[in-house]
Amino acid sequence: MKFAKVFQQVLTEEEIPEDWKDRAIQYKKLKKRINKVVEELENIGISKDEVKFNYNLEMIKSEIHPHLQIKISPFQKNLIVDKLNELNYQYEINPLKIEEIDNDSISIKSAINPFDDSKPFYELKISLLEDTKFFQILYDEIEDLNKFKTEKEAEISNKVELIANEVSHVTIPKMKRTDLYVWREIFQYYIENEIFFSTIERKAGIVDINQSKKRFIKFLKNIEDSKIIEKFHQKDSIIAFNKFKKLNFQILKISNYQNFNMIAVTKILKKFDKQTQLTSSKTIFPKLILINNEINILNGSIAKDICFIISTKLLTIVPQIDDYLCPICCSIAYKPIRLKCGHLFCIRCLVKLRRRNEDKCPLCRNECLLSLTSEDLDIAQMNYMKMYFPKEVREKEIENSREILEEQHVIDPNAKACVIM
Ligand SMILES: [Zn+2]
Ligand SMILES: [Zn+2]
Repeated sequence: MKFAKVFQQVLTEEEIPEDWKDRAIQYKKLKKRINKVVEELENIGISKDEVKFNYNLEMIKSEIHPHLQIKISPFQKNLIVDKLNELNYQYEINPLKIEEIDNDSISIKSAINPFDDSKPFYELKISLLEDTKFFQILYDEIEDLNKFKTEKEAEISNKVELIANEVSHVTIPKMKRTDLYVWREIFQYYIENEIFFSTIERKAGIVDINQSKKRFIKFLKNIEDSKIIEKFHQKDSIIAFNKFKKLNFQILKISNYQNFNMIAVTKILKKFDKQTQLTSSKTIFPKLILINNEINILNGSIAKDICFIISTKLLTIVPQIDDYLCPICCSIAYKPIRLKCGHLFCIRCLVKLRRRNEDKCPLCRNECLLSLTSEDLDIAQMNYMKMYFPKEVREKEIENSREILEEQHVIDPNAKACVIM
């Protein structure tokens, strides 16, 4: 199926809002514009089979100025210049310097022309009208899509903040019937599925839109299979979750829309090159808009920016256990000791290290174990863990006392009995 049709179908079937449709790349219109460029070249009498092209685009105050530089023989000069005068075109013509005349630029037709042999070549610089229009339309559409991206990002950012606010109200740690653990599990599924942005893949970065869709569906299936929603205590949690779900669908829709617009830009430039033979536009045009536009549609992804907003503003509301693990025992680093080097471990693991006469931090090999005192206990961190991970802290405390009992038992078999008594 032709791309124009596919593009149209996506805009219709994916229930793209009308105002988005209006802002999409006008692929069909641009395609017709290409025909006009071809016509213009024909009218002037310039064809790639006969002359050597050098094509360039310049940007002056958000206006695109294409230049066509062609090397021509005196014979061609007469024909083309006459035509340009007749059509009222602006042009510049200069004789080429001897060193600029390379044999490659002598086309077959001019080489066999008897007028050519003894005379130098000329360089003709013209600004065409139709290609200026084509690129200006394309540029303006891309600019508008960048604006669209900024608008949508702001809109989504606001929605994320609202949801974050709602989630923070239902996950207050000491609150009766808090949904802290339920939301933690939901966010854990969300993080694990890496819906919009990948960190573990070899090609870490933006996830392809179709992948994102699949991953989001997998996330929803995780939620359904785990029956986690039934565990919510607060009605507001259900409302917030539905908003979160809707928000993700919206991000997917925007990403898909942006993706198809990007494809449309690439395809239309390819078509332009193929039909006009002004082959440099494919690389020159993207470069041109890159200079003027750091986050341009050909490069930037809305998913990446939104993913960042979700990670920093929403997911951080409910801390994940992974960020509070002791690197030695891989369970919660309770009671936490912060070494001079900055690394954090649980007190049990450090006590064990000291018993083995270790004096270095296991992570950075800094010699900071010897100087440890009870003052190195990170009280603020300890209270934070107690508040946000009460279950894990309780488990760790039970485990610690069990370990202490076992040790005492090894040292003194009667000790256990004593303690129990
Ligand atoms: Zn530990
Ligand atoms: Zn260290």
